Order: sequence, then structure tokens, then C-alpha cells
Amino acid sequence: RELSKDEVRKMVKDENIRFLRVMFTDMLGTIKSVDLPVSQLDKLMDNKIMFDGSSIDGFVRIEESDMYLYPDMATWLVFPWGAEHGKVARVICSVHLVDGQPFPGDPRNNLKRVLHDMQDMGFKDFNIGPEPEFFLFKTDEQGNPTQTVNDQENYFDMEPADRGEDCRRDIVLALEKLGFNVEAAHHEVAPGQHEVDFKYSNALEAADNIQTFKLIVKTIAKKYGLHATFMPKPLSGINGSGMHLNMSLFSKDGQNAFYDANDSKQLSPTAYHFLGGLMKHARSYTAICNPIVNSYKRLVPGYEAPVYVAWSTSNRSPLIRIPSDRGMGTRVELRSADPSANPYLAIAAVLEAGLDGLRNELPPIHEVDENIYQMTEAERKEKDIHNLPDTLHNALKSLAADEVVKGSMGDHIYHSFMEAKTREYDSYRQHVSDWERQRYMEEY
Ligand code: GLU
Ligand code: MG
Ligand code: MG
Repeated sequence: RELSKDEVRKMVKDENIRFLRVMFTDMLGTIKSVDLPVSQLDKLMDNKIMFDGSSIDGFVRIEESDMYLYPDMATWLVFPWGAEHGKVARVICSVHLVDGQPFPGDPRNNLKRVLHDMQDMGFKDFNIGPEPEFFLFKTDEQGNPTQTVNDQENYFDMEPADRGEDCRRDIVLALEKLGFNVEAAHHEVAPGQHEVDFKYSNALEAADNIQTFKLIVKTIAKKYGLHATFMPKPLSGINGSGMHLNMSLFSKDGQNAFYDANDSKQLSPTAYHFLGGLMKHARSYTAICNPIVNSYKRLVPGYEAPVYVAWSTSNRSPLIRIPSDRGMGTRVELRSADPSANPYLAIAAVLEAGLDGLRNELPPIHEVDENIYQMTEAERKEKDIHNLPDTLHNALKSLAADEVVKGSMGDHIYHSFMEAKTREYDSYRQHVSDWERQRYMEEY
């Protein structure tokens, strides 16, 4: 429930809140924040906090750089640490222009726009249950991350008397204090790798939660002398980190629109068309769900990450899995997304792809129930199963050719995204790595 202005003022007094951390997310998915002394509370609640947008990635405008932060008071929460100097409350903001219009370059505003289109099509919520994975690395004397992971454990292992487990528990406790509904937290397959799953919520809240989650994980890891990273593939030869997105559409009367008791798979026409859209646009939203050079080192065979564009109710190898839950829990799990994605943009992109499936009644092509990794290339070809893009470069090419997925970003974000990502790829392409020297120096 959103607090009234008076309730907020009272809480600030009662809880000795001294600072207001106002947060928003730039185009690359980085959290930006400004600390305001609590004396600025009324100004903040009146949408009068101004900042210079010209130095924020993806925000640059030639004409004007003055922008305003409008707090979304539904996101108000008090951080569970730092009470010595008075507590810190945070609130997530939308970025607005001087004339009061929402700034189209703000990924959160952009997600709201796509959600609005969805509501016009008769749905109430797009629900997202994220499964972010991350690694804990040791740090050196200076506190910088090393390349040594924190433990040598494995999937669902308990690390005896280990800092990693204590750290993960502390993360869960902090999240719960912040009102997160944590459903599970466990060690993942790779050494040093962890996963924390929280209950699904509507798309905007889920994206906000993912951002807050990353902040909490990094902050608490630091307290333990560890470095938490959401980089998708920090080490070669072991699993990378994904951020599976479980998604479902809910209708205005609160029902799960993907569920149909009478269908052989208990999936509704809405679910099948949505899947059709996710299949059709898979190669193009990859650039948004897997936006960095390193993302593509994860999307390779052998490490539980998807490589092929297909869906299945029984097998985990394809891009999309339909978990066995039905009724309210009916959902589609996208397994490609990774935690380097800007959650606002990624969620908008998959929603737009799914809605395109509904608008055009696209068929749910590429259902495969065998293990695709065991199929030969010829068999995959015969079944018309395509690969996901294998580099950021190829992913960007697919995105550039897809008007629907481009539309999920809007012109402003699309152009700054393309520009930034093309630059990122060029810089990578020009870098000569150790792998090349080891491989070629003596041979040639
Ligand atoms: N870590 C795996 C990945 O890269 C996913 C493991 C899982 O199924 O949770 O996607
Ligand atoms: Mg996992
Ligand atoms: Mg999963």
C-alpha cells in the first residue's frame, strides 16, 4: 500500500530517517542514486527534485538536460543498515522532462508504456518471477575482487561454516526486512555460485525488485569481504549465471490467462499465441536480455544455458520451458535472460514479443520434447530449430531487423542502446587477448 504524504512525514520522524536515497536506472541497467538530506522530503514528494541528465548513459539530449525525479511512493522502503547515523529510506523515481512529460529515455517509463498497451488489450498484470544467479568471489587486501571463488561447493550443497552461506543467509534476511517474499535460496551448480528466488509480482515491481536485489547482494557481500558479481560468465569451463524469467499474463478478473483446464497441456490459446510471439522474436530480444559481450560466452552447449530457439513442457534444454504448475501458477520460463540485462528493458521486450503473438495469433512453433543437445545438426535443421545469436554483434543485427522488438524500447532508447552496444562490441573486437597470443604466437 502506498503511504500518504503525512504518513511518510510521520515515519521519517518516528524512525529517525536522515537521508533519502532516490534511485532510477539508466539505459545500461545501472542503478543511479542521489542522496538527499531529509529536509528535502517535501520537495521530493512534490516532484520538484531536479538533476542534470546529460551525464547519464542513454539520457543525453542536445537541447535540454534539466530533468525531474518524480518519486513512486509505492516503492518507499527503509534500508535495514546504517542506523548509527540515522536511517536511509529509498524511493524509486521516474524521470520527467521540464514540461512534466515522462522522459521516453527512462527505461522504467518505457516499461510502463508497454504495460499500458497490454492493459488496453484487456489484461491486468504481466507477472514476473525472476531467478537471478550470481557468484561470490574472494577479495584481496585492497578489497578488490580476485578470480578465486569463495567455495568449492555444488548444487544444493551446504557449505559447512562457510562465509558464503552466512552471507547468503544475511542477504535473505535483509531482503525479507525490505518486504521481499523470498521463496528459495540455494547454492548453484558452479563453485561460488548462488541463486535467490523471490515470489512473482507485477512487471514493474519485479524490475524494481531485481534492481534492489542486486544492490543488497553487493552490499552484503562486501560486509563479508566478498565480491558479488552478476556478470553472466565470469569463469570459462563452469556454468555461468542466468536470470530465468517466469512470466504469466493475468486477466482483469485476477485469473491466470495462460491456464485452460480443458486443453491437453492445460494451456490457453493466449498462452500458445504468447509463446508464438516469444518464438518468433527470440533472436531479436536476445540483444536486450543478453546485452553484453560476455553474455554470449554463457549461451553455449554444456552449461545448462540455452542455445536453441525452441520450447518444451518436459525438457530443460530449450530456450523456453513450461514448468509443470498449472492453475494460478501456469507460466512460461525464459531461460536465456541473464542478470546483466536491464530488467525494465528485458521485461518490456519479452512482453512486446508475446503481445505481438496475441495480436497476430501466431502459432506456438518449435515445440521440442527431446534433448536438443543430443540432436544432430541435420535433425535440428529438419525440425527448423534455429540457434540463438552467438555474439553481441549478431544479436544486434537481429534486433535492428525487428520492428516489434525495437518498438518495445521506443526510438530514444533504441538509438542510444544501439550506439552504446555497437561501441562496446567494437572495443572488444579490437582487443587482442591472451587466448590469441597463447594460440598463435608460436604457431605463426
Ligand atoms: N546457471 C544456469 C544458466 O546459466 C542455469 C541453471 C538452472 O537451471 O538454474 O542458465
Ligand atoms: Mg538456477
Ligand atoms: Mg529456472
